[in-house]
Amino acid sequence: MRSILCSLVLAIVCCVVTAQSPAQNKQIVIAVSTALDGKGRVLTNTRIVVEGSKIVRIDPNASPVNYDLRGLTVLPGWIDGHVHITWSFGPDGKNAGGGGTTPHDYYAAASNAWLTLMAGFTTVQSVGSPADLPLRDAIAKGMLPGPRILTAAEPLLGRGEQTGTPEEIRAYVRKQKEAGADLIKIFAAASVRRPEMSLSQEQLHAACDEAKKQGLRTLVHAYKDAVRAATNAGCTQVEHGTLATDDDLKLMVQKGVWLDPQAGLVMENYLTNKEKFAGTPGFPEEVFPVIREMIPMYHDFLKRALKIPGLKIVFGSDALAGSHGRNAEEFIDSVRDAGVDPMGAMVSANSLGAEALAMGSQLGTIAPGFEADIIALDGDPLKDITAVRRVVFVMKGGVVYKNNAPR
Ligand SMILES: [Zn+2]
Repeated sequence: MRSILCSLVLAIVCCVVTAQSPAQNKQIVIAVSTALDGKGRVLTNTRIVVEGSKIVRIDPNASPVNYDLRGLTVLPGWIDGHVHITWSFGPDGKNAGGGGTTPHDYYAAASNAWLTLMAGFTTVQSVGSPADLPLRDAIAKGMLPGPRILTAAEPLLGRGEQTGTPEEIRAYVRKQKEAGADLIKIFAAASVRRPEMSLSQEQLHAACDEAKKQGLRTLVHAYKDAVRAATNAGCTQVEHGTLATDDDLKLMVQKGVWLDPQAGLVMENYLTNKEKFAGTPGFPEEVFPVIREMIPMYHDFLKRALKIPGLKIVFGSDALAGSHGRNAEEFIDSVRDAGVDPMGAMVSANSLGAEALAMGSQLGTIAPGFEADIIALDGDPLKDITAVRRVVFVMKGGVVYKNNAPR
């Protein structure tokens, strides 16, 4: 009986895998009237030819047309450089964080992945939880629909001297790599309210230097002085960054460090879902008025960052429980409230987002040789940024997951 059941399960898994695998040699032709190529250019009245998981040609004469996306705005699937894909609300409706190991937690994580993909995000970087690893792998094998996931596995939490000696920190980084991490996430400061550094310069250097030796990028949760410290420690990217000075930001430019600031979604989400967060770890009742006050502070910081020439600003929504699938709201906040140029907002989640993942030659651009991650919006985000809410077509790696294009 058990072996019959096993074969049944295997057969089902095989079917799912087959259904989700791109047809290797079959050509798919997508007709477009307007496509943003992901690098700031606009393609008009042409056809995108896909074979297997890749874009192979841009050819206005390719036929027959399989998907007619004329009248929509087509662009590369978005990349969200900062999410917490497993973070969910528990069965009691309260914030349950992201490390749970119950069936509810697993289904919730799978649902987060599905919602994220349906919202047009074909790649996300999760920062992070060990629970990301099996989800990442199941999606990569085609067992579940979801975005391509890169994960930090277990983050390094700065706790002053208790964090460990530089040698212990290096060992911790290697442990994450062995567990399958794609990058290392480091908390070098607590919060805007308590921005003092939680790792010394020496500890930060050990973490980022060891990650570099292991071929991994480092994303550092930092505010105020921790931003400069992370930059001087050779880390790859600063998350949040609020309270950094213009000189700190200029130093980031000099050292080629990426900035991932937020424009509002994460804080709006805490307020919208206040009852679900209140009383759970890190969310005492008195924190909510402070969160509300922080929103303009984040807008001002992003506005200031935009004025620093050469600063590489990447898209990261910090999606967590309540905001999975609403990642694109962050685009709206950034354009409406912080004055980000709409094309710049799109590029920050396309070619620039891909470059920040060191995947600039594979993702984030509509051109031959790139992964066929293609989405379409009902509307023009350059004229009305709220069009990012209307994702009607989603292809990831040559597989169509959503096709609700109006006829
Ligand atoms: Zn985060």
